[in-house]
Amino acid sequence: MKILCIGRNYVDHIKELNNDRPSAPVIFMKPDSAILRLNQPFYYPDFTKDIHHEVEVVIKFNAHGKNIQSKFSNKYYNEVGLGIDFTARDLQSEFKSKGLPWELAKGFNGSAPISKFFDKSKYQDLQNLNFRLEINGKVRQQGNTNQMIYAIDEIIAYVSKFITIKKGDLLFTGTPEGVGPISIGDNVKGYLEDEKLLDFNIK
Ligand code: ZN
Repeated sequence: MKILCIGRNYVDHIKELNNDRPSAPVIFMKPDSAILRLNQPFYYPDFTKDIHHEVEVVIKFNAHGKNIQSKFSNKYYNEVGLGIDFTARDLQSEFKSKGLPWELAKGFNGSAPISKFFDKSKYQDLQNLNFRLEINGKVRQQGNTNQMIYAIDEIIAYVSKFITIKKGDLLFTGTPEGVGPISIGDNVKGYLEDEKLLDFNIK
């Protein structure tokens, strides 16, 4: 399976990183080895000094498809969960300044903690979901999926023109403002519609 991700999908997060508003979705991928499940601890790697948290709503695909029209996108996914797109911001800035791909800053081991997934019918409207991230009990990021620049179904239509979606693939749908560093010893909690789905420690 693969993990598709969209960058720069919330306006206030674009501002905080001084990025330009994209004219098309900014897509990148993480390898399946990035996944961290079941609230296992995250071990801080030694190749970076500045890992940032990016809490994101994650969609799980249940069908194979390409060139999907936006109005049919919802036929290709059935589950929703929460994830964190851990980003080695120091490496990413270095790669970006050199015009190089930032794969390693985003795809390292454990860089994609994910929660359990729920049938999407549990939620009334996937484009109106509140979610937040707490570090050591303090709210660091808070967002609602109604703030996305590209809605879930539009992202799927766009990316499936280039890359075939397969059953079991995941889509990280972007992060709201408030990204910041994590440190060894921190406790990380993630909530979707006030339900705690992530709760793990940084070691
Ligand atoms: Zn992200």
